[in-house]
Amino acid sequence: MSVDWGNLLVLSGPSGVGKGSVIAELLRRRPDIWLSVSTTTRAPRPGEVPGVSYDFVDRAEFARIVAAAGFLEWAEYAGNLYGTRAQPVADRLAAGTPVLLEIDLAGARQVRDRHPDALFVFLAPPSAAELRRRLADRGTESPQATDARLARAEQELAAQPEFDSVVVNDEIPQAAAELLQLWDGRRG
Ligand code: 5GP
Repeated sequence: MSVDWGNLLVLSGPSGVGKGSVIAELLRRRPDIWLSVSTTTRAPRPGEVPGVSYDFVDRAEFARIVAAAGFLEWAEYAGNLYGTRAQPVADRLAAGTPVLLEIDLAGARQVRDRHPDALFVFLAPPSAAELRRRLADRGTESPQATDARLARAEQELAAQPEFDSVVVNDEIPQAAAELLQLWDGRRG
């Protein structure tokens, strides 16, 4: 079966920018889109559901999947490993389903090297100060982990020009609408 990688949207952006909220709005508007469930060695946060938010695995299991070439991409982020399983993505695309990946910069680069036909969008905060405020307000991470995420965020912000498009997440409905417009423009 042929796989149309043009039907793949890769969304990246710094931790705290609001990717989760924008994606929730996107999926509400377009239930036909399939959001890939990533695999991670991070511990679940309160409220996260295994198999829905992430597949939570230990490092040994993650290494086993890497060794078996089971990931489309994977990366380390703030001390934890995150990866996208290759097969479910290829299966959905082969069936004509639009697929959304929410992954970090390192992962987006790996997908771009393999599949430059995909659409790569960076979700940016209205300002660096606003990002700091959102991350601190979230309160899901220890101060050290928040610092690690902020440091990583600065690297990610610098990489915006590598993406096909940048969408600023000022208002969630507006950001979701812009993303859909970009995607439909690309596919239409
Ligand atoms: P969080 O721990 O906040 O859920 O995610 C931390 C970072 O990991 C976010 O930037 C998120 O986009 C990224 N991430 C989540 N899943 C994946 C994945 O499968 N691959 C990669 N490379 N990054 C991921």
